[in-house]
Parts: sequence; structure tokens; C-alpha cells
Amino acid sequence: MIWNEEFETLPREALEALQLKRLKSLVERVYDAVPYYRKKMEGAGVAPSDIRELRDLRKLPFTTKEDLRLNYPFGLFAVPFEQVVRIHASSGTTGKPTVVGYTKKDIDSWAELMARTLSCGGAHRGDVVHNAYGYGLFTGGLGAHYGAERLGAAVIPISGGNSKRQIMIMQDFGSTVLMCTPSYALNLADVMKDMNVDPKTLKLRVGLFGAEPWSEKIREEIEKRLNINAIDIFGLSEVMGPGVASECIEEKHGLHVFEDFFIPEIINPETGEPLPPGERGELVFTTLTKEAFPVIRYRTKDLSRLIEEPCRCGRTFYRMERITGRTDDMLIIRGVNVFPSQIEHVLMSIEGVEPHYQIIVNREGALDIMEVQVEVSEEIFSDEVKVLERLARRIEREIKDLLGISCKIKLVEPKTIQRSEGKAKRVIDNRKL
Ligand code: ADP
Ligand code: ZN
Repeated sequence: MIWNEEFETLPREALEALQLKRLKSLVERVYDAVPYYRKKMEGAGVAPSDIRELRDLRKLPFTTKEDLRLNYPFGLFAVPFEQVVRIHASSGTTGKPTVVGYTKKDIDSWAELMARTLSCGGAHRGDVVHNAYGYGLFTGGLGAHYGAERLGAAVIPISGGNSKRQIMIMQDFGSTVLMCTPSYALNLADVMKDMNVDPKTLKLRVGLFGAEPWSEKIREEIEKRLNINAIDIFGLSEVMGPGVASECIEEKHGLHVFEDFFIPEIINPETGEPLPPGERGELVFTTLTKEAFPVIRYRTKDLSRLIEEPCRCGRTFYRMERITGRTDDMLIIRGVNVFPSQIEHVLMSIEGVEPHYQIIVNREGALDIMEVQVEVSEEIFSDEVKVLERLARRIEREIKDLLGISCKIKLVEPKTIQRSEGKAKRVIDNRKL
């Protein structure tokens, strides 16, 4: 079902007219209220009156994590502080947290966006939403919570952790919709198996997973092991939190960006130039309605591309392709660019390899050494050493074929690699220490 038929199926022309109107008002608001933004615009020689068509967005300077850091904690807020009713901070995956604020109206929009997201995944009134995203400063928990309530579903604010209890509650309360990170969903599947709980005896029907990168193979794994439909959802605290984009259950291919609230752009991460439609690059977002913490052309560092073709579900919003990595998670190993997603792709294509791995990079002398630790199934692990060695060599060879560099493979016993309750930590780079 489409939560907001009127906006989610707007013809492109009407949508773009709405975007332009909102963009003009955003730029005026920010110019008047935030000295830092005003100075940046002046530096770029652009004034609010220069925004006459959507393309003029390109005249505006980018906003980066560095701008947020320089204005820590509240320097970019665009309303008097008395109007702020909520404060969140990013999980700080890459350094100091960034602080974001919301007015009453922002919280209201966010609930609308997450209700749309849940609807995209086929959730509805009467569903029991098992919300295992972390509650706290992280936007995931409360963002999903308000959306589920707006939808009219019954939400269980279980947060992350204590997996056995999670499963007991799923059984007893009849959870139908699961929300958490994809790595935590796999973790729950493991615990379920340990407890001898057959997912087919549960009422779970769909899961909405996001906050970290995951692949198509991991989706298959989660769907099979939890006996559900797994949907990719996307967001970041600087732009709103979850609720920026979501896959629809009809296609499960590309995430509809809620374009009446956000304008997405794809740029060349090196030059900052906008790329032609369909090309892959860095995602940039402008928030059209946000009051307390609007951002103009925020550089996410996430890599994706936009799909402009109409979607079967009827939504007219463009889709962004599932995120393939971040400009800052790229490892440079002996001069070769390596994305963790490429390693995951190789691992997940091999029988007997479990979806739990970690990449460890060390420097020995002047040489970068990459080690990939990966769990293998119980059966393989208890097989002959020869079998294990053969498997390790095969993984090594396939990584070498794909990336052109050699690495060490360490096959480890099931459950050796640390499980996450939130975002998984896939890379340990000891070179920077
Ligand atoms: P951070 O992790 O940067 O401290 P957030 O907690 O707001 O801040 O996380 C936002 C980031 O999480 C995004 O920029 C993106 O890298 C990642 N992310 C969120 N959803 C997804 C998704 N569905 N697929 C891949 N990555 C995602
Ligand atoms: Zn769709």
C-alpha cells in the first residue's frame, strides 16, 4: 500500500514544481538564520534570489561533515533553540559525532517518512513492529518507533541486545515486522537456531533493514533463514535519520528517495561535478522542509546511482541503487583500491562460507598486509585440514582475480567473529594507529 498516495505518486512535473518552491524557501530561511551558511553562500557569490530553477541548486556550495564539526554542537541550527524538541547525534562511525536537532514539525515529517517506509515494505495497521534498532542518541530506534505509531501498528520498543529475550518476545507477542541492522538480523537468526526455534513457527513476515551496507547475497541469506521478505531502507542523521529512502516490496530493486522532502544528486567525488543521470558516484542531499537542522547539498560519502525509470509500485520518486560503499571506507592496499563490499561479494559466492567476516590490515615494514577472517560452516570446520586449506586457497585466488592483490585468508570456527547489535565493524585498519 502507498501511505501517501497524493505525494508519492505526484507526476514528475508537479513534483519538481513543489521541490523548487520548497528549495527557494529553504535557501532564504537558511541565509537569514545561519551566519555560517550565509558566509559560505557569499563566498560562492550566490544569493537566495539566484535560485530560479531547480538546476540553480548547483550554484550552492556543498555542506560537509567538516562544516558540521566546525559548528559543533548547535551552530548550524536554523531556529531559535526554544523551538527544538529533540536532539540526536550520529553514531560516529567515522570520528566525532555530529549533532542534529528537530522541531515539532520535523518530528512530524519524520514520522510521516517512516510510515511511508514501513508501507513500502508492506507493513500496515494491525502489524506488530519489533523495533530492534538501538534507542538513544542514534536516530534508528526513535525514528522507526514514531513511524510505526504513525502507521497505526503496535510497536515493541525492544531496542538492540539480549537476543534470546528478543526471540521469546517474538514468539509470545507475535511480532510480524522486524526492524534492525542486517547484521543484527543474521545474529538473531543464529540465536534462533541455537534455541531450536523454527522461524516458520513465528509470525514474522517482513524485515526493514538498514544503517549499514549489505549485499544481495546477505538479503537472500536473511530471507531464507528468517523466512521473511527483507527490505533495504536508508537514511543518515545529518539528513533526517532513517526514512530518507526505501525499497518497495513490489520490486526490491533500488530505494525510492522521498523527493518531496529531499533532493538527491550524484556527484563525482573527486571533482564535485554533478554526474549525468544513471552514473555512479557520491550521493548528495538537500533537505527541503527541515526547520531545525536543514542541510544544503550535504555530501554523504555514500556511493550509489539514481534509477530514473518508473517503478511498478506506482511511486514516481526516483530510486537510488543499494549503497555499494563509502568514499571513506575504501582501503588502499599496496596502491590498489579495495572496497569491503568487493570482498563480501567474493566470500558470499562461495559455498560453506558464513556471512560473518572481518578485514584486518597491518603494515609490516613498508608492506600492507590484508587478512580476511571468515567463518565457515560447522561441517567444513570439522572436516580434514586439507579441505580447509583448499577452501582458503580458493578464496585467496578469487580475491586475487577480482582485485589483483593477494591477501591472507583465515578460516575460523562459527561464532568466533564478534557479533554486533547495531552496525557491524567489518574493517580493522591497524595502519593508522
Ligand atoms: P554515522 O554512521 O555516519 O555516524 P548514521 O548513524 O546517521 O551516522 O549512519 C548513516 C550512514 O549509515 C549512511 O551515511 C550510510 O553510510 C550508512 N547506511 C545507512 N543505511 C544504509 C543502507 N541501507 N545501506 C548501506 N549503508 C547505509
Ligand atoms: Zn517501487
